[in-house]
Amino acid sequence: MKIVQRFAEVRASTAGRLGLVPTMGFLHEGHLALVDAARRDCDTVVMSLFVNPLQFDETRDLSRYPRDLDRDAELAEGRGVDVLFAPELDEMYPQEPLTRVTVSGTTDEMEGAHRPGHFDGVATVVAKLFVGIRADRAYFGRKDAQQLATVTRMAADLSIPIEVVPVSIVREQDGLALSSRNVFLSLDERRRALGISTGLMAAADAAEGGERDGLQLESIVRARLDGVLIDYVALAGALSARRVDNLEEDAVLAVAARVGETRLIDNVFLTVRGDTIVADRGTRLDEPSILYAAHRD
Ligand code: AMP
Repeated sequence: MKIVQRFAEVRASTAGRLGLVPTMGFLHEGHLALVDAARRDCDTVVMSLFVNPLQFDETRDLSRYPRDLDRDAELAEGRGVDVLFAPELDEMYPQEPLTRVTVSGTTDEMEGAHRPGHFDGVATVVAKLFVGIRADRAYFGRKDAQQLATVTRMAADLSIPIEVVPVSIVREQDGLALSSRNVFLSLDERRRALGISTGLMAAADAAEGGERDGLQLESIVRARLDGVLIDYVALAGALSARRVDNLEEDAVLAVAARVGETRLIDNVFLTVRGDTIVADRGTRLDEPSILYAAHRD
């Protein structure tokens, strides 16, 4: 695996069908599932690793975001990444960017409403990665459902010739969605955080059982949330990322909540196939994730 810091070096190191996995590092099996998907489809897999200051709306969240390049490089190489693109700030933003990419509509609600400027930062850095690397495909986790909707729309609107490929959420054995931020959770916070996925799984069961009312589905989730501060529970169109009253089109039932000082998001995708609803509950690991190994060390 090559580790490079310049866009030009990435372009010079790739051949054939190129798959891009954008990350902010501190890797876990969720990121590695994106690598697996890219590995299956592509000749060259590039992982980008950049903690993008533009998308952080809270300074403390940015300053405490976990970083460990050596650990990430080892994990990426072990999973078959060909090129690790880990740019310094001056490669990504050699000068104060006067250009920002704003995607309207998909960014108005949920995360967009709670994190001002966040999606401009995401869309801007992802556009730079798409244009600078020229990958054929880019792999994004369903964990960040609104981000997925936003970058998909951004690429289409800007005619960037790239296919955005969604990948299911990877969860701990007990259901907690993997997140680099999970390392901050105390044992008690982790126990409380579990209500998020438990609630979503219960709502997924209800949806598959025929419940299509948005408020009902949301209240099933809310009933499991205890000891967390809820930002929102919302049923939203999967492509529009806008709230819907009923499950009539593909949708995402999404939650954001603060557990102590850590803000967590999670969701289930609900696909509508005629009279049938199919929930993507994600995949569960057989053993505790590498995040915990990292945390214990
Ligand atoms: P991040 O490093 O948090 O910016 O995430 C990089 C990519 O990994 C994004 O496309 C995320 O949606 C994806 N991702 C993060 N956590 C998970 C997870 N638990 N399962 C699947 N994908 C994930």
